[in-house]
Amino acid sequence: MVFVLDRHKKPLMPCTEKRARQLLERGRAVIDKMAPFTIRLKDRAAEESLFQPLRVKFDPGSKTTGVAIVLTGAKGEKILFFGEIVHKVGVKAKLDARRALRRGRRHRKTRYRKPRFQNRKRKDGWLPPSLEARVGQTLHALAKIRKLAPITMISVEHVRFDTQKLENPEISGVEYQQGTLLGYELREYLLEKWGRCCAYCGRTKVPLQIEHTVPKSRGGTNRINNLALACEPCNLLKNNRTAEEFGYPEVQAQTKKPLKDAAMMNATRWRLYTQLKATGLPVEGGSGGRTKKQRLDHSFPKEHYYDALCVGESTPDRFTRLPSYVQVWTAKGRGTRQMCGTDKYGFPIRHRSRQRVHFGVQTGDLVRAVVPKGKYAGTHTGRVLARTSGSFDLSAQGRRIVQGISYKYCRIVQRNGGWTYDQKPVSA
Ligand SMILES: [Zn+2]
Repeated sequence: MVFVLDRHKKPLMPCTEKRARQLLERGRAVIDKMAPFTIRLKDRAAEESLFQPLRVKFDPGSKTTGVAIVLTGAKGEKILFFGEIVHKVGVKAKLDARRALRRGRRHRKTRYRKPRFQNRKRKDGWLPPSLEARVGQTLHALAKIRKLAPITMISVEHVRFDTQKLENPEISGVEYQQGTLLGYELREYLLEKWGRCCAYCGRTKVPLQIEHTVPKSRGGTNRINNLALACEPCNLLKNNRTAEEFGYPEVQAQTKKPLKDAAMMNATRWRLYTQLKATGLPVEGGSGGRTKKQRLDHSFPKEHYYDALCVGESTPDRFTRLPSYVQVWTAKGRGTRQMCGTDKYGFPIRHRSRQRVHFGVQTGDLVRAVVPKGKYAGTHTGRVLARTSGSFDLSAQGRRIVQGISYKYCRIVQRNGGWTYDQKPVSA
């Protein structure tokens, strides 16, 4: 799929790669952006165009957020776009390093200053910077998408499980079994409650079974407060004993306790949900249990973009046309503001000039280099590392492809916007 803009750079309905090629060949369109690839129609205005509902769907994750764009047409639901937002890592480490550096500097210079009042307060709804960054990056990605496509609806996974579905404490018989929506919600609830590990041996990354602390054969019920998670060996070993008889009275006690609200409502997801609502578009929330059920019903593999596709109640039973590739958008930031680099002891070892543009190029710009001779002879396209010396490096797909070529061979394709754009095949 290719994003399409009108002649005033307003978003139109996206088109296929084939259609985009035809439009470009006939001279009806020009390339507006290389990444994400966007064309601009020269003879069309948005006012005279027809639009269909477009839904963008997010599955927020800690490292990667899945994105899918779905079109609701006359012939059912079409998948237009698969994407992954790769979040910035090491936010906390960088802030810690900066804090240590500044603290060290203040101690070194022995100027006496009275302590300030402890008058700094965290705002309501404060999130740690690493989490705040994730929310910000997702919102930034949405803003970018909305500039390129006429999005009308948003879906987002905002809770792990639906508490309202679990409100009825008497979950009987088939309902908690695999396969039903309630079963998935319940499973997600138990995973959260037991910390995703076996309640008895504490092992993680093993298949976990729902287990009755007081066995059914001994009059135990199917109520939530009689359920725990156990790995298969523990479950078999426990057999028809109660958890207490098995030697784990604390598990028995834990079962009775309800899961605290704080644990149910992941702060980051909730923040994202409310911020998305603030865009003014209709936002549909979905639970993780539902996402999982719908993904398995469609028998899609476990990928962030498929999870995004299956978020929310609006997910249809059938989809048509899968995209041929996944767009991977990696948040890179816009460089550092640090003027003085230090060694590991905090001793200043290098200084940077205030200048960031070297020979018209800035680090992070997308550049095409035509190198006439030498080791790197040929044409290369990638993200540039610009140096004062005029000797530039290029990288693509996260790897350095060219080192130390002259600025003279480089032409800017696209300015740095804090992201890199790659593609990968869709896993089937
Ligand atoms: Zn176990």
